[in-house]
Amino acid sequence: MGETTSWTNGTQKFVLHNTSISDNGEASSTVTACAMLLDAPVIPLLSWTLQAHPPRPDPPVFVVADAGSKGAGMFAARDIPAGALILVDQPIAVVPSNVISPWKREAFDALLPRISRFSRDSLLALANCKPLSEHPVVEGIALTNAIQIDLPVPLTTAPQEYGGIFPNVSRANHSCGLDAAVKWDLASFSVTMYSLRAVRAGEEIHNQYIDVLAPRAVRRSELVRYGFECMCPHCDLPDAAAVARSDAAREELRNWRHLHPRFLPWSTDICRPDDTIIVSNLRALELIEQEGLYGLQVPFIEEIAMSYAVLGDELQFRDWAQKVVDLCAGQDPERARKFAGWIADPRSYKQWGWRAKQRQLLDKQKEPVDLDISIPW
Ligand SMILES: [Zn+2]
Repeated sequence: MGETTSWTNGTQKFVLHNTSISDNGEASSTVTACAMLLDAPVIPLLSWTLQAHPPRPDPPVFVVADAGSKGAGMFAARDIPAGALILVDQPIAVVPSNVISPWKREAFDALLPRISRFSRDSLLALANCKPLSEHPVVEGIALTNAIQIDLPVPLTTAPQEYGGIFPNVSRANHSCGLDAAVKWDLASFSVTMYSLRAVRAGEEIHNQYIDVLAPRAVRRSELVRYGFECMCPHCDLPDAAAVARSDAAREELRNWRHLHPRFLPWSTDICRPDDTIIVSNLRALELIEQEGLYGLQVPFIEEIAMSYAVLGDELQFRDWAQKVVDLCAGQDPERARKFAGWIADPRSYKQWGWRAKQRQLLDKQKEPVDLDISIPW
Protein backbone atom coordinates (compact mmCIF):
# COMPACT_ATOMS: atom_id res chain seq x y z
CA MET A 1 0.00 0.00 0.00
CA GLY A 2 1.37 3.45 -0.79
CA GLU A 3 0.24 7.04 -1.12
CA THR A 4 2.36 9.56 -2.91
CA THR A 5 0.15 12.32 -4.19
CA SER A 6 -3.19 13.85 -3.36
CA TRP A 7 -5.72 16.07 -5.07
CA THR A 8 -8.33 18.21 -3.35
CA ASN A 9 -11.93 18.63 -4.46
CA GLY A 10 -13.90 20.81 -2.04
CA THR A 11 -13.72 18.99 1.28
CA GLN A 12 -12.56 15.77 -0.37
CA LYS A 13 -8.96 14.67 -0.60
CA PHE A 14 -8.31 12.04 -3.26
CA VAL A 15 -5.26 9.82 -2.93
CA LEU A 16 -3.70 7.04 -4.95
CA HIS A 17 -4.03 3.65 -3.34
CA ASN A 18 -2.73 0.24 -4.32
CA THR A 19 -4.58 -2.88 -3.39
CA SER A 20 -3.36 -6.45 -3.44
CA ILE A 21 -5.93 -8.47 -5.34
CA SER A 22 -3.35 -9.87 -7.72
CA ASP A 23 -2.06 -13.38 -7.96
CA ASN A 24 0.12 -12.80 -10.99
CA GLY A 25 3.32 -12.49 -8.96
CA GLU A 26 4.10 -8.95 -10.03
CA ALA A 27 2.73 -7.14 -7.00
CA SER A 28 4.91 -4.93 -4.79
CA SER A 29 4.03 -2.18 -2.31
CA THR A 30 3.40 0.37 -5.07
CA VAL A 31 2.72 -1.79 -8.13
CA THR A 32 -0.33 -4.04 -8.01
CA ALA A 33 -2.92 -5.55 -10.31
CA CYS A 34 -5.32 -2.81 -9.23
CA ALA A 35 -4.61 0.84 -8.45
CA MET A 36 -7.29 3.19 -7.20
CA LEU A 37 -7.94 6.91 -6.84
CA LEU A 38 -10.04 7.23 -3.68
CA ASP A 39 -11.46 9.75 -1.27
CA ALA A 40 -9.00 9.28 1.63
CA PRO A 41 -11.54 8.27 4.36
CA VAL A 42 -12.57 5.24 2.26
CA ILE A 43 -9.15 3.63 2.53
CA PRO A 44 -9.32 2.43 6.16
CA LEU A 45 -12.71 0.88 5.33
CA LEU A 46 -11.09 -1.23 2.62
CA SER A 47 -8.71 -2.97 5.03
CA TRP A 48 -10.61 -6.21 5.18
CA THR A 49 -9.79 -9.81 4.42
CA LEU A 50 -10.80 -10.47 0.84
CA GLN A 51 -13.28 -13.30 0.45
CA ALA A 52 -12.77 -15.79 -2.34
CA HIS A 53 -14.75 -15.06 -5.49
CA PRO A 54 -16.55 -17.92 -7.29
CA PRO A 55 -14.11 -20.06 -9.30
CA ARG A 56 -13.72 -18.86 -12.88
CA PRO A 57 -15.31 -21.21 -15.46
CA ASP A 58 -12.53 -23.38 -16.83
CA PRO A 59 -12.23 -23.55 -19.79
CA PRO A 60 -13.68 -20.05 -20.35
CA VAL A 61 -17.24 -19.96 -21.70
CA PHE A 62 -16.65 -16.80 -23.76
CA VAL A 63 -14.23 -15.53 -26.38
CA VAL A 64 -13.47 -11.97 -27.47
CA ALA A 65 -13.85 -11.69 -31.23
CA ASP A 66 -14.63 -9.24 -34.00
CA ALA A 67 -18.18 -7.86 -33.73
CA GLY A 68 -18.22 -6.00 -37.05
CA SER A 69 -18.92 -2.27 -36.83
CA LYS A 70 -18.98 -2.50 -33.01
CA GLY A 71 -15.29 -3.45 -32.87
CA ALA A 72 -14.53 -6.33 -30.52
CA GLY A 73 -17.28 -8.16 -28.68
CA MET A 74 -17.90 -11.03 -26.31
CA PHE A 75 -19.26 -14.29 -27.72
CA ALA A 76 -20.36 -17.59 -26.18
CA ALA A 77 -17.64 -20.22 -26.71
CA ARG A 78 -20.21 -22.96 -26.17
CA ASP A 79 -23.89 -23.32 -25.30
CA ILE A 80 -24.53 -21.59 -21.96
CA PRO A 81 -27.65 -22.52 -19.96
CA ALA A 82 -29.78 -19.84 -18.27
CA GLY A 83 -28.41 -18.72 -14.90
CA ALA A 84 -24.82 -19.89 -15.57
CA LEU A 85 -21.65 -18.07 -14.53
CA ILE A 86 -19.98 -16.50 -17.57
CA LEU A 87 -17.03 -14.74 -15.98
CA VAL A 88 -15.46 -13.40 -12.81
CA ASP A 89 -13.51 -10.16 -13.14
CA GLN A 90 -11.51 -7.99 -10.76
CA PRO A 91 -10.78 -4.32 -11.46
CA ILE A 92 -7.52 -2.99 -12.87
CA ALA A 93 -8.32 0.56 -11.82
CA VAL A 94 -10.95 2.31 -9.70
CA VAL A 95 -11.69 6.00 -10.29
CA PRO A 96 -14.19 8.52 -8.91
CA SER A 97 -16.95 8.84 -11.50
CA ASN A 98 -18.67 12.15 -10.76
CA VAL A 99 -15.81 14.52 -10.01
CA ILE A 100 -15.31 17.50 -12.29
CA SER A 101 -11.94 19.01 -11.48
CA PRO A 102 -9.05 20.25 -13.58
CA TRP A 103 -6.69 17.76 -11.88
CA LYS A 104 -8.80 14.78 -12.86
CA ARG A 105 -6.84 13.91 -16.00
CA GLU A 106 -3.47 14.12 -14.28
CA ALA A 107 -4.69 12.06 -11.33
CA PHE A 108 -6.21 9.37 -13.57
CA ASP A 109 -3.01 8.99 -15.59
CA ALA A 110 -0.98 8.84 -12.33
CA LEU A 111 -2.58 5.42 -11.82
CA LEU A 112 -0.83 3.89 -14.84
CA PRO A 113 2.71 3.50 -13.40
CA ARG A 114 1.21 1.89 -10.29
CA ILE A 115 -0.51 -0.91 -12.21
CA SER A 116 1.45 -4.09 -12.86
CA ARG A 117 2.56 -4.68 -16.44
CA PHE A 118 0.09 -7.48 -17.16
CA SER A 119 -2.87 -5.44 -15.91
CA ARG A 120 -1.63 -2.30 -17.65
CA ASP A 121 -1.50 -4.13 -20.97
CA SER A 122 -5.09 -5.32 -20.38
CA LEU A 123 -6.21 -1.79 -19.55
CA LEU A 124 -4.58 -0.23 -22.60
CA ALA A 125 -6.12 -2.94 -24.83
CA LEU A 126 -9.64 -1.78 -23.92
CA ALA A 127 -11.69 0.34 -26.31
CA ASN A 128 -11.45 4.12 -26.00
CA CYS A 129 -14.26 6.12 -27.62
CA LYS A 130 -12.71 9.47 -26.61
CA PRO A 131 -10.06 11.27 -28.71
CA LEU A 132 -6.68 11.47 -26.93
CA SER A 133 -6.53 15.17 -27.80
CA GLU A 134 -9.50 15.77 -25.48
CA HIS A 135 -9.15 13.06 -22.83
CA PRO A 136 -5.90 11.52 -21.57
CA VAL A 137 -5.80 7.78 -21.99
CA VAL A 138 -6.99 6.50 -18.59
CA GLU A 139 -9.86 8.99 -18.47
CA GLY A 140 -10.92 8.02 -22.01
CA ILE A 141 -10.81 4.32 -21.16
CA ALA A 142 -12.71 4.97 -17.92
CA LEU A 143 -15.40 6.96 -19.74
CA THR A 144 -15.75 4.12 -22.26
CA ASN A 145 -15.53 1.09 -19.98
CA ALA A 146 -16.01 1.87 -16.28
CA ILE A 147 -18.74 -0.01 -14.43
CA GLN A 148 -20.27 1.56 -11.34
CA ILE A 149 -19.10 -0.21 -8.18
CA ASP A 150 -20.18 0.42 -4.61
CA LEU A 151 -17.43 1.08 -2.08
CA PRO A 152 -17.99 1.61 1.66
CA VAL A 153 -19.28 5.08 2.53
CA PRO A 154 -17.49 6.80 5.44
CA LEU A 155 -19.94 8.29 7.95
CA THR A 156 -18.16 11.62 7.88
CA THR A 157 -18.20 12.33 4.15
CA ALA A 158 -20.70 12.68 1.33
CA PRO A 159 -21.28 9.54 -0.77
CA GLN A 160 -18.91 9.32 -3.71
CA GLU A 161 -19.56 7.26 -6.84
CA TYR A 162 -16.81 5.09 -8.26
CA GLY A 163 -16.24 3.27 -11.52
CA GLY A 164 -14.15 0.14 -11.93
CA ILE A 165 -12.22 -0.63 -15.11
CA PHE A 166 -12.21 -4.40 -15.66
CA PRO A 167 -10.19 -6.43 -18.17
CA ASN A 168 -12.94 -8.76 -19.41
CA VAL A 169 -16.47 -7.69 -18.54
CA SER A 170 -16.05 -4.42 -20.48
CA ARG A 171 -15.63 -6.49 -23.63
CA ALA A 172 -19.37 -7.08 -23.76
CA ASN A 173 -21.07 -4.61 -26.10
CA HIS A 174 -24.29 -2.87 -25.20
CA SER A 175 -27.74 -4.12 -26.15
CA CYS A 176 -31.16 -2.87 -25.05
CA GLY A 177 -32.23 -6.52 -24.73
CA LEU A 178 -30.18 -8.49 -22.22
CA ASP A 179 -28.80 -11.98 -22.22
CA ALA A 180 -26.48 -11.45 -19.24
CA ALA A 181 -26.31 -9.49 -15.99
CA VAL A 182 -23.36 -8.13 -14.06
CA LYS A 183 -23.15 -8.05 -10.27
CA TRP A 184 -20.50 -6.32 -8.11
CA ASP A 185 -19.44 -7.98 -4.86
CA LEU A 186 -17.41 -5.82 -2.49
CA ALA A 187 -16.44 -8.73 -0.22
CA SER A 188 -14.47 -10.44 -3.01
CA PHE A 189 -13.78 -7.18 -4.89
CA SER A 190 -15.06 -8.73 -8.09
CA VAL A 191 -17.86 -8.62 -10.62
CA THR A 192 -19.59 -11.74 -11.84
CA MET A 193 -21.54 -12.04 -15.07
CA TYR A 194 -24.40 -14.54 -15.32
CA SER A 195 -26.55 -15.56 -18.28
CA LEU A 196 -30.20 -14.50 -18.01
CA ARG A 197 -31.38 -16.98 -20.64
CA ALA A 198 -29.89 -19.87 -22.59
CA VAL A 199 -27.21 -18.50 -24.93
CA ARG A 200 -26.19 -20.54 -27.98
CA ALA A 201 -22.53 -21.11 -28.92
CA GLY A 202 -21.37 -18.23 -31.12
CA GLU A 203 -24.09 -15.84 -29.94
CA GLU A 204 -22.93 -12.41 -28.75
CA ILE A 205 -23.16 -11.74 -25.00
CA HIS A 206 -24.23 -8.22 -24.04
CA ASN A 207 -24.22 -5.90 -21.08
CA GLN A 208 -26.34 -2.82 -20.47
CA TYR A 209 -24.55 0.53 -20.37
CA ILE A 210 -27.65 2.62 -19.63
CA ASP A 211 -31.22 2.37 -18.31
CA VAL A 212 -32.81 0.02 -20.85
CA LEU A 213 -36.39 0.70 -19.68
CA ALA A 214 -36.17 4.24 -21.10
CA PRO A 215 -37.76 4.94 -24.52
CA ARG A 216 -35.61 4.36 -27.60
CA ALA A 217 -34.97 8.08 -28.23
CA VAL A 218 -33.70 8.56 -24.65
CA ARG A 219 -31.56 5.41 -24.84
CA ARG A 220 -29.97 6.53 -28.08
CA SER A 221 -29.21 10.01 -26.71
CA GLU A 222 -27.68 8.46 -23.57
CA LEU A 223 -25.45 6.25 -25.70
CA VAL A 224 -24.01 9.22 -27.63
CA ARG A 225 -21.36 9.52 -24.91
CA TYR A 226 -20.12 6.07 -25.88
CA GLY A 227 -19.80 7.22 -29.48
CA PHE A 228 -22.37 5.00 -31.20
CA GLU A 229 -26.00 4.84 -32.26
CA CYS A 230 -27.58 1.67 -30.90
CA MET A 231 -28.59 -0.69 -33.69
CA CYS A 232 -29.58 -3.59 -31.44
CA PRO A 233 -32.72 -5.54 -32.48
CA HIS A 234 -34.76 -3.42 -30.04
CA CYS A 235 -33.58 -0.11 -31.52
CA ASP A 236 -33.26 -1.01 -35.21
CA LEU A 237 -37.03 -1.10 -35.78
CA PRO A 238 -38.88 -0.86 -39.11
CA ASP A 239 -41.28 2.01 -38.39
CA ALA A 240 -42.71 4.45 -35.85
CA ALA A 241 -45.44 1.99 -34.84
CA ALA A 242 -42.83 -0.61 -33.85
CA VAL A 243 -40.95 2.00 -31.81
CA ALA A 244 -44.18 3.05 -30.05
CA ARG A 245 -44.99 -0.60 -29.26
CA SER A 246 -41.54 -1.21 -27.80
CA ASP A 247 -41.53 2.05 -25.80
CA ALA A 248 -45.02 1.25 -24.43
CA ALA A 249 -43.94 -2.25 -23.35
CA ARG A 250 -40.88 -0.89 -21.49
CA GLU A 251 -42.96 1.84 -19.87
CA GLU A 252 -45.51 -0.74 -18.74
CA LEU A 253 -42.80 -2.96 -17.26
CA ARG A 254 -41.21 -0.01 -15.47
CA ASN A 255 -44.52 0.87 -13.80
CA TRP A 256 -45.82 -2.68 -13.44
CA ARG A 257 -46.07 -2.66 -9.66
CA HIS A 258 -48.23 0.46 -9.68
CA LEU A 259 -50.59 -0.73 -12.40
CA HIS A 260 -51.19 -4.41 -11.79
CA PRO A 261 -52.54 -6.64 -9.01
CA ARG A 262 -50.04 -7.57 -6.33
CA PHE A 263 -49.35 -11.01 -4.98
CA LEU A 264 -49.64 -10.40 -1.24
CA PRO A 265 -53.14 -8.85 -1.12
CA TRP A 266 -54.38 -11.43 -3.67
CA SER A 267 -52.99 -14.35 -1.67
CA THR A 268 -55.41 -13.66 1.20
CA ASP A 269 -58.35 -12.24 -0.74
CA ILE A 270 -60.69 -15.03 -1.75
CA CYS A 271 -63.02 -12.58 -3.54
CA ARG A 272 -60.50 -12.19 -6.36
CA PRO A 273 -60.24 -14.82 -9.12
CA ASP A 274 -57.72 -17.61 -8.49
CA ASP A 275 -55.72 -16.86 -11.63
CA THR A 276 -55.36 -13.07 -11.13
CA ILE A 277 -51.60 -13.02 -10.47
CA ILE A 278 -50.80 -15.85 -12.86
CA VAL A 279 -52.55 -14.15 -15.80
CA SER A 280 -51.03 -10.78 -14.94
CA ASN A 281 -47.49 -12.10 -14.56
CA LEU A 282 -47.68 -14.21 -17.73
CA ARG A 283 -48.46 -10.98 -19.55
CA ALA A 284 -45.34 -9.39 -17.98
CA LEU A 285 -43.23 -12.36 -19.10
CA GLU A 286 -44.62 -11.93 -22.63
CA LEU A 287 -43.47 -8.29 -22.67
CA ILE A 288 -40.09 -9.31 -21.22
CA GLU A 289 -39.68 -11.87 -24.02
CA GLN A 290 -40.77 -9.35 -26.65
CA GLU A 291 -38.22 -6.79 -25.45
CA GLY A 292 -35.51 -9.24 -24.44
CA LEU A 293 -35.45 -7.81 -20.90
CA TYR A 294 -34.64 -11.09 -19.20
CA GLY A 295 -33.08 -9.36 -16.22
CA LEU A 296 -36.61 -8.55 -14.99
CA GLN A 297 -38.07 -12.05 -15.16
CA VAL A 298 -37.27 -13.65 -11.78
CA PRO A 299 -39.76 -11.76 -9.53
CA PHE A 300 -42.60 -12.56 -11.96
CA ILE A 301 -41.68 -16.25 -12.23
CA GLU A 302 -41.33 -16.39 -8.47
CA GLU A 303 -44.84 -14.97 -7.95
CA ILE A 304 -46.34 -17.43 -10.43
CA ALA A 305 -44.72 -20.29 -8.50
CA MET A 306 -46.02 -18.91 -5.20
CA SER A 307 -49.50 -18.42 -6.68
CA TYR A 308 -49.59 -22.12 -7.57
CA ALA A 309 -48.43 -22.86 -4.02
CA VAL A 310 -51.32 -20.86 -2.56
CA LEU A 311 -53.63 -22.72 -4.97
CA GLY A 312 -52.10 -26.07 -3.94
CA ASP A 313 -51.27 -27.02 -7.55
CA GLU A 314 -48.19 -29.18 -7.01
CA LEU A 315 -47.35 -29.95 -10.64
CA GLN A 316 -47.37 -26.32 -11.78
CA PHE A 317 -45.68 -25.18 -8.58
CA ARG A 318 -42.73 -27.53 -9.10
CA ASP A 319 -42.39 -26.46 -12.73
CA TRP A 320 -42.24 -22.71 -11.98
CA ALA A 321 -40.23 -23.05 -8.77
CA GLN A 322 -37.61 -25.03 -10.70
CA LYS A 323 -37.23 -22.09 -13.11
CA VAL A 324 -36.42 -19.84 -10.11
CA VAL A 325 -33.86 -22.36 -8.85
CA ASP A 326 -32.18 -22.62 -12.28
CA LEU A 327 -32.02 -18.86 -12.81
CA CYS A 328 -30.84 -18.02 -9.28
CA ALA A 329 -28.48 -20.91 -8.46
CA GLY A 330 -25.39 -18.80 -9.18
CA GLN A 331 -26.31 -15.18 -8.73
CA ASP A 332 -28.81 -15.46 -5.85
CA PRO A 333 -28.10 -18.78 -4.11
CA GLU A 334 -30.18 -17.92 -1.06
CA ARG A 335 -33.32 -17.53 -3.16
CA ALA A 336 -32.48 -20.72 -5.08
CA ARG A 337 -32.11 -22.65 -1.80
CA LYS A 338 -35.46 -21.35 -0.50
CA PHE A 339 -37.31 -22.54 -3.61
CA ALA A 340 -35.37 -25.84 -3.73
CA GLY A 341 -36.57 -26.47 -0.16
CA TRP A 342 -40.19 -25.88 -1.17
CA ILE A 343 -39.80 -28.17 -4.20
CA ALA A 344 -38.53 -30.92 -1.90
CA ASP A 345 -41.51 -30.43 0.43
CA PRO A 346 -44.23 -28.20 -1.11
CA ARG A 347 -46.34 -28.37 2.05
CA SER A 348 -43.60 -26.57 3.96
CA TYR A 349 -44.72 -23.45 2.06
CA LYS A 350 -46.62 -21.58 4.76
CA GLN A 351 -49.74 -20.84 2.73
CA TRP A 352 -49.76 -24.10 0.77
CA GLY A 353 -53.23 -24.69 -0.71
CA TRP A 354 -54.79 -21.87 1.33
CA ARG A 355 -57.13 -20.75 -1.44
CA ALA A 356 -58.27 -24.31 -2.17
CA LYS A 357 -59.12 -24.80 1.53
CA GLN A 358 -61.04 -21.51 1.65
CA ARG A 359 -63.06 -22.51 -1.42
CA GLN A 360 -63.98 -25.83 0.24
CA LEU A 361 -65.11 -24.00 3.38
CA LEU A 362 -67.21 -21.62 1.32
CA ASP A 363 -68.81 -24.56 -0.54
CA LYS A 364 -69.73 -26.15 2.79
CA GLN A 365 -71.47 -22.98 3.85
CA LYS A 366 -73.57 -23.14 0.71
CA GLU A 367 -75.75 -25.98 2.12
CA PRO A 368 -79.18 -25.96 0.43
CA VAL A 369 -81.54 -23.59 2.21
CA ASP A 370 -85.33 -23.89 2.07
CA LEU A 371 -86.34 -20.72 0.38
CA ASP A 372 -89.97 -19.65 0.34
CA ILE A 373 -90.41 -18.69 -3.28
CA SER A 374 -94.21 -18.63 -3.20
CA ILE A 375 -95.71 -15.47 -4.60
CA PRO A 376 -97.41 -13.54 -1.82
CA TRP A 377 -100.66 -12.85 -3.64
ZN1 LIG B 1 -30.58 -0.66 -28.49
